Amino acid sequence: MSDLQIRDVRVILTEPDNIRLVIVKIETTEPELYGIGCATFTQRPTAVVSAVNDYLRPFLIGKNPADIEDIWQSSYVSSYWRNGPVLNNALSGVDQALWDIKGKLANMPVYDLFGGKARDAAAVYVHSTGDDLQEVEDRARAFIDQGFHYIRVQVATPGYATYGSRGAVADDSLQTGPRVITDRVTKFDSNTIYAHPGGIFEPRPYIKSALGLFEHIRATIGWDIEILHDVHERIPPIMGVDLAKEVEQYKLFFLEDLFAPEDNDYFRMVRQQTSTPIAMGELYNSPHEIIPMVKDRLLDFMRVHISQIGGLTPARKLAALCEAFNVRTAWHGPGDTSPVGHAANLMLDLNTINFGIQEYAIFQERTQEVFPGCPEVRGGYMWPNGKPGLGIDVDEELAAKYPFKERAFGGAWDTVRRADGGVVRP
Ligand SMILES: [Mg+2]
Repeated sequence: MSDLQIRDVRVILTEPDNIRLVIVKIETTEPELYGIGCATFTQRPTAVVSAVNDYLRPFLIGKNPADIEDIWQSSYVSSYWRNGPVLNNALSGVDQALWDIKGKLANMPVYDLFGGKARDAAAVYVHSTGDDLQEVEDRARAFIDQGFHYIRVQVATPGYATYGSRGAVADDSLQTGPRVITDRVTKFDSNTIYAHPGGIFEPRPYIKSALGLFEHIRATIGWDIEILHDVHERIPPIMGVDLAKEVEQYKLFFLEDLFAPEDNDYFRMVRQQTSTPIAMGELYNSPHEIIPMVKDRLLDFMRVHISQIGGLTPARKLAALCEAFNVRTAWHGPGDTSPVGHAANLMLDLNTINFGIQEYAIFQERTQEVFPGCPEVRGGYMWPNGKPGLGIDVDEELAAKYPFKERAFGGAWDTVRRADGGVVRP
């Protein structure tokens, strides 16, 4: 196999269930030997396509796909400037596809290439959201009936936009906080103009509704399940410090994205004041953001999005770094992690002794059809299928039946604003 070469690098775009997925496929000079990887950056997918087609494809054709480390390192510096989400996702698509190929060559699942399994299956958490307390409770109970033990809970704040629930665009009649300025309008598409399409967010009403939700879940469902919550970086840092202390009594499994990455240093303050478990990392791109958080034990759960940092090659090294400091992994895994990305997450979940939890958005039927070998979830765990490589494939003919749909502003994340019109981190 020493003369094995990369014959082509192609991008597959598909949207079977309203999330734009980007997959990279690497073909080799060995007929039938190929690999696939996740390069999904759903807010900027066509930028990733350009990074692969215009730059990585010509750089990689003719190289030996066995040289994963050399290909990663040389591709990483081939742009000179590095560590952005576009280039890292493009690199991840290539990197995961190369691990897939290496597993197929070895006739082993990728977790065996990493050293083998440290557990049989990966515990997952699911999202229970609702417009009111009862709806969140009902959904959580339905998940518990299906065997899930870890549940992220998010509830709408009446009259305000709230991350993780359908929520409401500001409604004057429901507001309890500052009066909303509605002068600013945003053109959303050619026919409609909305005031604040992403909605109005105010921290105090949100914190009140979130604390009410934890109280409700503990009072009704009780203490036999683990509950998680995502702040989504929206509140002023000192209010975040206070929230982390307030939620200590509800014993969350973790509190996620309490601050934006720009405010990482506030985690030092949180650590001195509370033992609420801290999860952070889906917005990290660069080792410079991540390493201080791990070495100073400022977080309990590392939530990096594997394609966002460049694939399995850097992620397995990060997992090992986290092991040395007993930081657990909780790789980001919502719907905009493709099933290929989930298969990659699972390889590390199984191999890593300091695995904590795996986020999971239930795969819809059409998505499962497009990706044969989609990791199976039962009894609250994600299970490997034992097939060589990542154990997953993409049905290209079917994928082509779900082309990307047109979106306002190319599919940009909605702008969320404070009542006075100022922008809030999303
Ligand atoms: Mg999150």
